[in-house]
Amino acid sequence: MSDSYLVISRKYRPKSLDELIGQSLLVSSLRSCLDTKKVPHAFLFHGIRGVGKTTVARILARCLSCVGQDGLTDLTSHPCGVCRSCVSIDRDQHMDIMEFDAASRTGVDDIREIIDSTQYSPVLGRYKIFIIDEVHMLSKSAFNALLKTLEEPPPHVKFIFATTEMHKIPETVLSRCMIFPLRPISFDALSSYLIDVALREGFTLEDGAARVICEESGGSMRDALSLLEQSMMLTSDDKAIASKMVLEMLGSVPSPAIEALWDLILSAKPKESLAKIEEFMKGGADPIMLYKSLQNSLYKLITQRIKGEKGNTSITNLLYIWQILLQQAENLRNAHFPEYVLSATVIILAMTASFQNIEEMMINKKDQKPQPRADESNEVVDNILSKFPGAIAAEVE
Ligand SMILES: [Zn+2]
Repeated sequence: MSDSYLVISRKYRPKSLDELIGQSLLVSSLRSCLDTKKVPHAFLFHGIRGVGKTTVARILARCLSCVGQDGLTDLTSHPCGVCRSCVSIDRDQHMDIMEFDAASRTGVDDIREIIDSTQYSPVLGRYKIFIIDEVHMLSKSAFNALLKTLEEPPPHVKFIFATTEMHKIPETVLSRCMIFPLRPISFDALSSYLIDVALREGFTLEDGAARVICEESGGSMRDALSLLEQSMMLTSDDKAIASKMVLEMLGSVPSPAIEALWDLILSAKPKESLAKIEEFMKGGADPIMLYKSLQNSLYKLITQRIKGEKGNTSITNLLYIWQILLQQAENLRNAHFPEYVLSATVIILAMTASFQNIEEMMINKKDQKPQPRADESNEVVDNILSKFPGAIAAEVE
């Protein structure tokens, strides 16, 4: 690997609004702002990690700073890429564009430094632009100090904020920003893009493999590209990325195997369900990945059931099982041995599935007891439910 090696997420980082994937609403809003020259003095981009907030902030800084080949062009939604400003931005050397990471510079002194520099005119471009990443991490006093400048900013100053946690930003600051949400990228758009990037790198990415990467990334471009890059490193001479390879890399198992496990759980077979989960883990599956796959698969089952497509389990029971799965997520993440939590969860789910109708039980809690299958012990079920948060109402006096 040479010194000039660039990770794929940096190599393919978009430099213009046209190159942004899966953010069409954001792109048209920004274009409208720029083309009508109605540019606010503070922008806020929010969304999950790796979805492109900092990338958009830099593209916007480029749009605001480009002066065109003739050096006279006004701000634009189509920066030229060759003017002094555009070239300086490409080299990360633009003197008027300053990037701060609020995660490491949270204090009021850091913000005062920014505020002091706003009084000087830009050197190269038309604006001094302050990009503040993870802005929600600023301290209360830092926000207060920033607020005064946000209320009456000098005309040559623009702020671009990015955050994953908008709810932590004071209302007084939010009300002075134009807010742009970045959505998780749709699986279809992300999948096509990954297949295209793989091709450009000389690899073939199977549709199924792309799908697995998309699901694991949850719509985050950076995570998806990083997983694609890891997959590329595992390929042999044929440079083909198959879904089996990606699943093994992630410590997951194929969807049909997960569906087969749900068949066992919903048929109220705790012993067989436990054997299946142990078999997965002996094969190298990761408990956290298995949990995610179980959750994704159950979501599909519920939607299929609501559409009346397939399945015998009542929607109420499926939703109750969904709730149990969600409640166990926290336990799983904090556990020293997540494989035990997962195994116990699967047993609880299979035992819960043995109840005839949870809704009826909850309504007639005084008269009706849970109806476990004949081959299960009441005592074991009662014991598990008594330890479980939100245990069946029938057991509560
Ligand atoms: Zn330019």
